[in-house]
Amino acid sequence: MQYNSVLENLKIYEAGKPIELVVREYGVDENSIIKLASNENPRGCSPMVQKEVCSDISKMNLYPDDSMYELKEGLAKRFSVDSQNIIIGAGSDQVISFGVHAKANKNNKVLMAKTTFAMYEIYARQTGTTILKTPSHQHNLQEFLEIYQNNKDISIIFLCLPNNPLGECLSRDEVYNFLDKINKETLVIIDGAYQEYAKYKDKKTQIEPNDLIKRYPNALYLGTFSKAYGLGGMRCGYGIADVNIIKALLKLRAPFNITTLSLKAAIVALRDEKFVENCIKENFEQMKIYEKFAKDLGFEFIESYTNFITLEFKNSKNSTEISEKLLKKGIIVRNLGAYGMNAIRVTIGTPEQNSRFMREFKEIYIDDMEG
Ligand SMILES: *Cc1c(COP(=O)(O)O)cnc(C)c1O
Repeated sequence: MQYNSVLENLKIYEAGKPIELVVREYGVDENSIIKLASNENPRGCSPMVQKEVCSDISKMNLYPDDSMYELKEGLAKRFSVDSQNIIIGAGSDQVISFGVHAKANKNNKVLMAKTTFAMYEIYARQTGTTILKTPSHQHNLQEFLEIYQNNKDISIIFLCLPNNPLGECLSRDEVYNFLDKINKETLVIIDGAYQEYAKYKDKKTQIEPNDLIKRYPNALYLGTFSKAYGLGGMRCGYGIADVNIIKALLKLRAPFNITTLSLKAAIVALRDEKFVENCIKENFEQMKIYEKFAKDLGFEFIESYTNFITLEFKNSKNSTEISEKLLKKGIIVRNLGAYGMNAIRVTIGTPEQNSRFMREFKEIYIDDMEG
């Protein structure tokens, strides 16, 4: 069968390996597996959310409120914006796809950092657009600007703040200075999937959606319940932008695009800030232990503003081998070999998971040196 020719340039997305697959393929006991590969909250979600979702379990036969009134009100209040500035998606992933399909086509171009969230490129390829990447792996706004100024037909710029899979973040002032130089016809997508972490670590990195969209009618801010809120399995994210952008994106949205129970979970999650704050605090305490671990063993890491850390081996070790060996021990991490980097990305787990990772990793690392 012939398919749309844009599919020829598309690969099927490979998510972090699920626990079930490791049990099947490696015969590891399910209870001994720890997954530090998809940046999920190791503490789960707020107990309040679990309780309220359970009490709504009999409502599965009902479609959700398609206006998503209560969730939009909650987000509007949280971010001091109007409900009309908000769109809800099945994960912020879906909002990325709306943004891409609203602007990109085969006659224009999309710009992103060399090593950033893989879905930007996948959605962009679906439209047949041309993809431009900066030479540097991490976000370098000087490089973004040079490419932007040499290509007059860039429809979308992606900034992932902080960046997945590397963990670095730009300061708000740098981002605003950059946005000042961008034409209002170019959609700038600011992916804030990890903003809760970044702003906790360093206020200077915080992007406030209300201030952003007031200054820049061409900016689309993205947030998600999948990371700090611990609701990855519920698939709920949001976009915040000028009402004209939101109106365009709404044309691409199918009705009932999130489930009745996801909607409930997100609404309740917003009410338990304390839970999220405690998780983030622990995240950065554990991060320090990882940094010391890397220094002690003598390899590099990228300073992280998120809930994961990228460990870089340069020439000393091979990240593909290390990931395989970890997998055999039941520890799932993300190998960044496919990005042309000799590095792994490790999600910060609970203190117990992290000590287990460090113990097993060290064994592999030292074994290797002797072998
Ligand atoms: C996890 C993640 C998302 C979105 O996740 P959803 O589960 O679809 O909300 C978006 N951007 C980045 C950079 C992410 O890491």
